[in-house]
Amino acid sequence: MRKISIFGATGSIGQSTIDLIRRDPAAYDVVALTGGGNIAQLARDAIALNADLAVTAYDENLPQLRDALADSGVAVAAGQAALIEAAARPADWVMSAIVGAAGLAPGLKALEQGATLALANKESLVCAGKLLLETAARYGARLLPVDSEHSAVFQGLVGEDIEAVERIIITASGGAFRDWPLADLKNATLAQASSHPNWDMGQRITIDSASMFNKALEVIETREYFGVSPDRIEVLVHPESMVHALVGFNDGALMAHLGAPDMRHAIGYALHWPQRRDLPVARLDLAAIGQLNFAEPDPIRYPALAQAYAVMERGGMMGAAFNGAKERALDLFIAGRIGFTDMAEITARVLDQIETQSGLIDSAMTLDNVSRIDHIARNAADAAAATGIR
Ligand code: NAD
Ligand code: MG
Repeated sequence: MRKISIFGATGSIGQSTIDLIRRDPAAYDVVALTGGGNIAQLARDAIALNADLAVTAYDENLPQLRDALADSGVAVAAGQAALIEAAARPADWVMSAIVGAAGLAPGLKALEQGATLALANKESLVCAGKLLLETAARYGARLLPVDSEHSAVFQGLVGEDIEAVERIIITASGGAFRDWPLADLKNATLAQASSHPNWDMGQRITIDSASMFNKALEVIETREYFGVSPDRIEVLVHPESMVHALVGFNDGALMAHLGAPDMRHAIGYALHWPQRRDLPVARLDLAAIGQLNFAEPDPIRYPALAQAYAVMERGGMMGAAFNGAKERALDLFIAGRIGFTDMAEITARVLDQIETQSGLIDSAMTLDNVSRIDHIARNAADAAAATGIR
């Protein structure tokens, strides 16, 4: 039996992971499940999967979790220290599916105990790619990508020499506002930004898809994970979300990865890697689909993309600043305090400001320094919002 833990078990990726695990329960010994505010779901899954431990990220939810799991045999805990302790428990495979920079510390801890870390939490790589990869190497652990595009690239590289790769193309649906008149974007509402044309995902990544902050993070994720230079990474708008990524080689070959827009493919690939197993995902019928479309992303509609390239150009820990500012700007948009297009205005300002003010960006990449930059960037985003954006 493989020992597994799922961080962010109550979220969209966490639930898809549990769906796969529950199809073959005898194969897995579940160590820890973690969640946030959805205690009923966390408790239900902890019982169904017979987990050793259930952790909520929030202290105030501990009494409710304790009640829900009384007499179940599942141990309970709450708070940041408990998340780290859960990640320190030996496991063979750990799903990192917390949303945001909060996923970094548990992910690092899981690598330190040698686990294979299935990384849905792209923010970790954006904030601290080098630290994660070095930690994995030091402890003989492994990182596997669980983003549809990155799983696609990873599969496209099996048996290939990375030196023969000319370019990596990741696709983007274009999100909720792909076809909106540009002038209307500033009035886009939270409800409008929270619906995705093709994928069913958590609210934050769905809004990030509409703004393409998600793709911006993924460009950086591509650079960090595969080690290719930024000028070899391209973004292609593909409204159908069926081609997830393409790898271009030095002989002109372009290998595309296609599949239904269902995260259980990328999760399942990471779960069974290096084998392929049958997965409960729809099979594409290309004749029925008939046609697939591709277009250049519009830099005016999606300013976050150029910011990602500027972040990579600057290097150091600029990724942590970018992600922290983005997370805070997204919080402010969700809270109704800023408009949709203000988010990219805020991140642009924070990047400018941190570029000129903070020597910290070039200091050693440690968890402490990443957290400090994250904190500075969030405060700078608040300050930018308070002084008015437009
Ligand atoms: P979600 O919002 O549905 O779930 C997030 C999970 O993290 C929940 O279990 C929540 O309780 C927990 N959580 C939230 N804040 C936390 C905190 N501060 N500390 C500890 N736990 C916290 O999100 P999701 O859509 O499942 O996305 C999870 C991660 O996977 C993100 O990094 C996202 O970018 C990435 N991802 C998601 C998809 C998708 O299809 N949903 C696809 C690719 C990558
Ligand atoms: Mg993706």
